[in-house]
Formats: sequence, C-alpha cells, structure tokens
Amino acid sequence: MSLTELHDEPESRTVSIEDAVLDTLAPGIPAADVDDLRSRVHGPVYTAGDDGMAAEVATWNVAIQHTPAVAVGATGGADVAAAVSWAVAHGLRVAVQATGHGPVRNAAGSLMITTRRMQGLAIDPDRRIARVQAGVKWIRVLEAAAEFGLTGLCGSSSDVGVVGYTLGGGMGSLGRKIGFAADLVQAVEIVTADGRLRRISADTEPELFWAVRGGKGNFGVVTALEIELVPVSSLFGGGIFFAGDDAPALLHRFRQWAPTLPEEVSTSIAILRMPPMDELPPPLRGRTVVHLRFAYVGDDHAEAERLLDPMKDVGTILLGYVGPMRTDEMDGIHMDPVDPLPAWEKGMLLTDFPEETADALLATVGPQLEIPLIMAEVRLMGGALGRPAKVPNAVPGRSGAFAVLVVGPGVPELAHVVPAIGKGVLAALGPWKAQESMINFLGDVSGPEEVAAAYPPATIGRLREVKRTVDPDGVFSFGHAL
Ligand SMILES: Cc1cc2nc3c(=O)[nH]c(=O)nc-3n(C[C@H](O)[C@H](O)[C@H](O)COP(=O)(O)OP(=O)(O)OC[C@H]3O[C@@H](n4cnc5c(N)ncnc54)[C@H](O)[C@@H]3O)c2cc1C
Repeated sequence: MSLTELHDEPESRTVSIEDAVLDTLAPGIPAADVDDLRSRVHGPVYTAGDDGMAAEVATWNVAIQHTPAVAVGATGGADVAAAVSWAVAHGLRVAVQATGHGPVRNAAGSLMITTRRMQGLAIDPDRRIARVQAGVKWIRVLEAAAEFGLTGLCGSSSDVGVVGYTLGGGMGSLGRKIGFAADLVQAVEIVTADGRLRRISADTEPELFWAVRGGKGNFGVVTALEIELVPVSSLFGGGIFFAGDDAPALLHRFRQWAPTLPEEVSTSIAILRMPPMDELPPPLRGRTVVHLRFAYVGDDHAEAERLLDPMKDVGTILLGYVGPMRTDEMDGIHMDPVDPLPAWEKGMLLTDFPEETADALLATVGPQLEIPLIMAEVRLMGGALGRPAKVPNAVPGRSGAFAVLVVGPGVPELAHVVPAIGKGVLAALGPWKAQESMINFLGDVSGPEEVAAAYPPATIGRLREVKRTVDPDGVFSFGHAL
C-alpha cells in the first residue's frame, strides 16, 4: 500500500477592505500577516469570526467548543511547520486537534492546527510497520492492517485518532497481552516550537522520543507516527448486557474473577444509564444496565469460553455477543457511542479492587440511585500494561491494577451537578487510588499540577526538563499540558 498524502485545494477566500478591517483575531495581528500565512500553507486558514471557523474546529465531544484566534487546516508536515513558525512569530500559542474526541478545555485565542486532512497511511507488511499521518483514525489502520493479518493497539473506539490516543499511552483490548500503543511506536515525525519538522527515534533523539510517547501534546505537533503492528487477525470478544439490578452480584464476581485471568484476556465492566433513544434496542432503552466486555487474543476459543463462563450465570442477560470477531470489528466489544455528544469525564487508577471498593462504587453509582451519570467503568489492567516498554517511554499508569472512568452529560444545565457526582464517585474510591493515572483517562483537570500528578515523580522531573529544552516558552500549552 502506498502512502497517500491528501493535498486539499485551499479554500478560496477573497479579502475585501471591510474584511481586513473587521478581522478580529488576536489584537495586533494585521490582516496582511494572515494573508502571508495563507500563502505559506496548502490548507485553509480561518480567523475568528470567519464563516468556516466553527466547522473547522468542531469537536466530537461537543461539551467543549474551541474559539481559537486562527485555525489552519494542515495538509501535511510542511503546513504544520509553517503554522507553528507563524504562531510563534505572532506570539500565539499552538493547539492541535484531530478528531475532537479528547478536548480538555477551550483552546481560546490559540492558533489551532487541525490535522484531519492528513490522511496518509502506508503499511510495510514485511517489517510490520505502519506510517500513520496525524489525521488518521484507528478504523483505517485496523482495516488496512487486517489485509495482511496484522492489527494495531486500538482502544475501545476506532473512531478515535491514532496519534492523540498513542501519545497519551493508548490502552485497548490487546493491552494486557501486548502493552500500551505508545510502547510500539518506532519513530515520530514532529514539529517543535522552533518550527523544525524532525523525525525522531530512539537512535536520533532519545530523550525527546522518550518524552513524547506518554507526554501527549506537550512537545510539539506530531505529523506522523511509525507504529509496529502485531500479527493478530481475530479475537474472541464482545460484550454482554445484564439487568442493572444485578450490578452488586456482577461487580463482586468481577472483582474476584478478573484478577485470575491470563494476559490473553482484557476485560472491563460498566454500569450504564442508557438514554431513552429509539435507536437503542428495546431491552436497553432508558434502562440502567451492566455491560461486561471481554476480549481474548488467541486461537483457543474453547478456552476463551471456559474463561468467560463464571460471569455468565451471575445475572439476567438482556442481550449480547461474545464470540469470534475480526480485528476491525473490535468496536463491538465496548460499543462506544459514535455520534458526537457532550461528555464530562474523569478517571483514576486503583491499586486493588477488593470487596470494600466494589461496595463503595455500588453505593455511589449503583442502580438504586437516580443520578445523571452515563457510565462508571472498571477496566482490568496488569499483564503487559504493568511492564516497562522495550524502549522505555514516559507513559504513566503501569502500577495500576484497575482503571476507573466516570462519564456524565457535559451540558450547561448540569454543569455543576455532573462533576460533583463524578468526583464524588472517585473520592469514594480514594482509599484504593494508585499514585499514577493514565493521561488519556484524566478527563477534566484543574490545571498543569493535576496533569503532573499523573506521572511518577522521577518521570515528571524528566518530562519538565525536556519541555524546558524543546518548548521553553510554553508554545504547546493546551490539552493535558504540563
Ligand atoms: C469514545 C472514546 C473512547 C476512548 N477509548 C479509549 C481507550 O480505549 N483507550 C485510551 O487510551 N483512550 C481512549 N480514549 C481517549 C482518547 O485516546 C483521547 O481522548 C485522545 O486524546 C483522543 O485523541 P484524538 O486525536 O482523537 O482527539 P483530539 O481531541 O483531536 O485530540 C486530543 C489531544 O490529543 C493530542 N493530539 C492530537 N493530535 C496531536 C498531534 N498531531 N500532535 C500532538 N498532540 C496531538 C492533543 O493534546 C489534543 O489536545 C477514548 C475517548 C473517547 C471519546
């Protein structure tokens, strides 16, 4: 398969004298300078107030809307380099967005680089390497790799961007067997604050290469990743929905059962409050349910069945499928929502999940409560997720035994209620909190100190040192910024 770089035609835009006068971007930036930027990039450039701006920077998680001063729809590494240099020259900080699945807060006043036009994907099946440009979503990698009997370490939704997910660690259904997605990164193409596009690897710039794998967007805009693919073509996986009333029995069985599983199995359990939407199957519509997710990597399906069995007789099954599935069907395990929605979320890791922890979780999100939380999920960690990467990186969270994530509607009417309830759930689990957290599941954070607290102390010191070296002026300070 050959690499295809999409070079969209720049959208034409005539600037009238009124436009020039009305260009309300960052104070002090003349419209002529914006035209200069337009002449340097292939993709479209929007400024605050332009018609196309809102669509260009639209998020998947619509709870957060970005209002940058300037947006550049990058078509490749050269556009990104030009945009970063221009931003630095004009005193603007740089934000980046691929799919909008993981906005942390409004990147107001920034120069936002959107990468969704960067759709290059090339697979070398002999070396089992994929070069993935910054706008590619996981589904394209899964489909293309499957043609060669290979796959990548995608998470619960293949609608998520490969780059953002991987820079934040990337924990998915093959994680316990193989590790974090970041552990399989071979090389990174990145534009740093000096406007240089560099290809870095363990051999060329080991310290920056260590930092960017786990340090997310703190060090520059990644234009492409080279990732190792794994020779897995199918799974035994899926999910089972149980009646919500069975939550106590299911959670207590899960906490005893999950730690006994081999590394071939990744699993999680979630209490879901389903909306009364017609699109949902009648047994789930408007109900509180428990969703058990299960993925077995291996050919011995009889063994997979045997491993799953202890969970099947714990409650009333409403519907579900666990069985053979192709790797490009992995979304069927978690069944995450696909359409954009407003979400508030926050997560943490647990060192353990004993009886008291399950009770604390049930007391705060159990089916007996009328609360506006969409999901409270517990994922099993351990296995390869608990071991260092072959080429060490900055990914935190390896000490966690379980990961907890709470999600609620991120709507203005519940702006205080949902975070208060969600944080209350995590506080109730506080006694079992691990020191580290996973960056991709941090969700709502109060600021850089909370992000820093996700990393072990030695890691955060080293990350800050790299940041001081490559981004001393804090050009990249949106998202989960340090
Ligand atoms: C439905 C859903 C399911 C998920 N499941 C999982 C899961 O199973 N496992 C897991 O680990 N995570 C999961 N996540 C979290 C997800 O990995 C993060 O939100 C990730 O940041 C999304 O990346 P994105 O590029 O798609 O989103 P965006 O909102 O476009 O980007 C989010 C952030 O990623 C960084 N980023 C994106 N592109 C670049 C770039 N080119 N250069 C530098 N930084 C960049 C930036 O910090 C940016 O602010 C899930 C999220 C959702 C909404």
